[in-house]
Order: sequence, then C-alpha cells, then structure tokens
Amino acid sequence: MIAAQKVTTSCPYCRASVPVEIHSIIDVGQNPDLKGQFLSGRLNSATCPNCRRTFQMGGALLYHDGSKDFLGIFLPHEINLANKDRQRLIGDLNRRLVDSLLPEQRRAYLFQPKEFITLNGMVEAILAADGITPEMQRAQRERMQLLETILRGATSADALQAMAKEYDAKLDLNFFTMLAAMVEQYAAEGDTQSANMFAALYQQILPQTSFGDKARAQQEAVGQINQQTTREQLLNMIVAAEDDQLEAYVMAGRPLIDYGFYQELTGRIETAQAAGDTATAQRLTSLRERILALTAQLDQASRQMLEEASTFLRDLLQAPDPQTLLQENWDRVDDAFMQVLEMNLEAAMQRGNRPVANRLNAIMQTIMQQMQSAQPPEVQFINELLTTEYPSGTRKLLVERRAELTPDFLAALDEVAGMMEQQGQAEVAKRLRDVRGQAALVV
Ligand SMILES: [Zn+2]
Repeated sequence: MIAAQKVTTSCPYCRASVPVEIHSIIDVGQNPDLKGQFLSGRLNSATCPNCRRTFQMGGALLYHDGSKDFLGIFLPHEINLANKDRQRLIGDLNRRLVDSLLPEQRRAYLFQPKEFITLNGMVEAILAADGITPEMQRAQRERMQLLETILRGATSADALQAMAKEYDAKLDLNFFTMLAAMVEQYAAEGDTQSANMFAALYQQILPQTSFGDKARAQQEAVGQINQQTTREQLLNMIVAAEDDQLEAYVMAGRPLIDYGFYQELTGRIETAQAAGDTATAQRLTSLRERILALTAQLDQASRQMLEEASTFLRDLLQAPDPQTLLQENWDRVDDAFMQVLEMNLEAAMQRGNRPVANRLNAIMQTIMQQMQSAQPPEVQFINELLTTEYPSGTRKLLVERRAELTPDFLAALDEVAGMMEQQGQAEVAKRLRDVRGQAALVV
C-alpha cells in the first residue's frame, strides 16, 4: 500500500488552513478505489472546514495499472522545473511505486512512464487501456450534454414529451444505461435527492421513446414464454414477431430451439414452396438463418461464461487460502459460477470424493454467509427468525433482540409475509405471521 501524504495547505477562497491527503501515486492493484476517484475528478480534492468550499490540489501524479501494463505520469505546467529536476521527481515517484510492488510485478515497462502534458490526456489514455476509445468518450460526453439539455428544458410534462420526440434517435440503450448508472452512483454515495430525481426522469421519459416501445415489446415477448410453451407455439410467436422482438424470443426460448424446432421450420418452408408461395418460403429461410446466427452467438457467450466460471473454481480449489481468493474476486461470483459450483459439488458427492466435496462445500458456505451479510440488517434478522425453531426458539430470539423490534421492522415482517403469499410460499408466509404475532406480544 502506498500511503497518502498528509499536508496542510491554505484555502484558496478564505486562506484558512486546511489539512489534505495527497495521493501522488495511484497503483490500481493496491488501491483500486483511487482509480474511480481520479477518473471522476474527486482525487486530491479538499473541503475547507471554514468556508465549506471544495478545491482541487495540483501536483505530479504517477498512475500504474499492472493488469494493463500501463504506467503514466502527469507533471503540471505550474511545476516549472529544470530537466534535471523533472527527471529526479519522476525517478523519486517511480522508485516509491516499484518499491511497493512484489518482485514478480517489477517489469521493464515500469522504467519508462509515459508522460502526459494534460490530466485529460492521461484520463483518455487510461480509458483507452480499458477499451473505451476516444469516440466512445466523445459519445458519452454528448450523452451527458443531452441529459443536461433535457433537465434544463423539461419544465413541464408537455415540454418533456416534446423533447423526448425531438431527441428520440439519441435516447437509446446507451443513454438509459448511463442514466441508470447515475441513479446507482448517487444512491451509493447517499445523495438520495439526486438519485430520486434521475430515477423519476428515467421513468417519465422511457415510455415516450422508440427505445422504450422496443423494450416493452421485448418484455412482452419474454413474458409469453414459460415452461408449458411448445416448440410449435414458439415457432408461431417467432414467425409473427416484429424485428425488435426476435432476439428476445430466441433468448427466452433457447432450450426449445433444437433439432425438432428446425424440422418444424423446414417443414413450413417446404410447404410454402410446394404451394408456390415463394415470398413466404424466402422469408422463413432468412428467418432460419437469423435464428441459427442468434443461437450460435448466445451459445458462445454462455460457453465462455461457463469456462470462466470453471477456471475460477479450479483456482479456488488449488489455492492454499481459497477464502481470501474468494473475497478478492467477489465480482466473479455470478449465476454462471454458482451453476458450475453446484454441478461440481453434485458430481463430487456422486463419485464419493469426500475431500473435494468438502472443499466445494466450504466455498459454498462462505458465499452464502457473504450474501447474507450483504443484506440489510432487517432482512438478516428475518432470515434468522425463519431458520430458528418455532415457537420457543423464536420467542427467545425476539426477547433477546427486543430493541430491534421497531415499528419499521414489524412493518417489514408484514410486507415480507405478504410477498411470500403472493409468490405462493404459503408456509413461509404463515410462519412469518406467527412470528409477527409473537413479536407483538414481546413488544
Ligand atoms: Zn475556505
């Protein structure tokens, strides 16, 4: 870990003295959080305790991302140094970085940092190393400008509708993805007001766009497919589908698209040809090609996800300390990984391979615990109550944790019980209502 430097500076607005932490070195491997702070312009900024204004500290900055072999340095113009001193400053920063790395991480590129004359140039290069090209960055800036235009102009429902119409072509998946990401980011930072404002905008503008229409059509498509759907029904839906919906049908109906499905489709092409209906035959033939291409694409994506999940699981099984590896790679625990983990656990138990089954089980337990501790305390408490013996065990637990039985918690219990009922989990719902009755007596 490379420590920040603690210095005292004077506020550029009111001259009060302000303590600041300055990072001159970002090593993404050691301090992943700093990358986001830097890219969003929040790194090395300070808020004056006297006048509450925020200002940015200048200074040299060395940025290293070992996973991308990227090493860049920015020296601001204000640092007016003779070449010899520049080299010494670069050398000093570089040495501190290299000293903090493990021997196997010290590679040749580390001795030649790429110099940037502007911070923006460095930001662009970092994003480019992430696969975000300058064109994509420009497009993102334009989307931000469009959002600002809409926020300024949407003074009434009518005005918003007019703007949705005017900018329809630009209000696409990328725009709504950006808007959703902003809602999440503000919510994560605790700025509920901004989060709510952007969420409301999202809700209001989406249904007024072509993109919103398309998304709704796709949702409807997916909603029509369930466990009882037959190959023939799926084929009927696909043949009647609008262009926008085809992909959604293929995705949701993928398990039904097999040899039998293609036989049925080929049969219809032949029937059309025999009847001399060339137009239909041609339409169905090109439809068959598109379905083949879409399924190939889907299968490759899911194969890749499963392969990645298997690799991670193998690493975990071979690791001397799987728990730590798991904590460090929490983002790799997704649906595909859980699927692979369960399959392997089942296979190990069937083969009677106890050591492997035990290790897989330990991994599973850690994940379950982690998922539970990530839940809000109320939900954790409800889960605990559900897994405790009723009635005496739950009563004891409720008495012990009487302080947590707030009106909000009791309302949450009611709400969860109602939800369980709606989902057809009558037993769980009844247990929750019983526990709710106990809680009322304890309070
Ligand atoms: Zn101040």
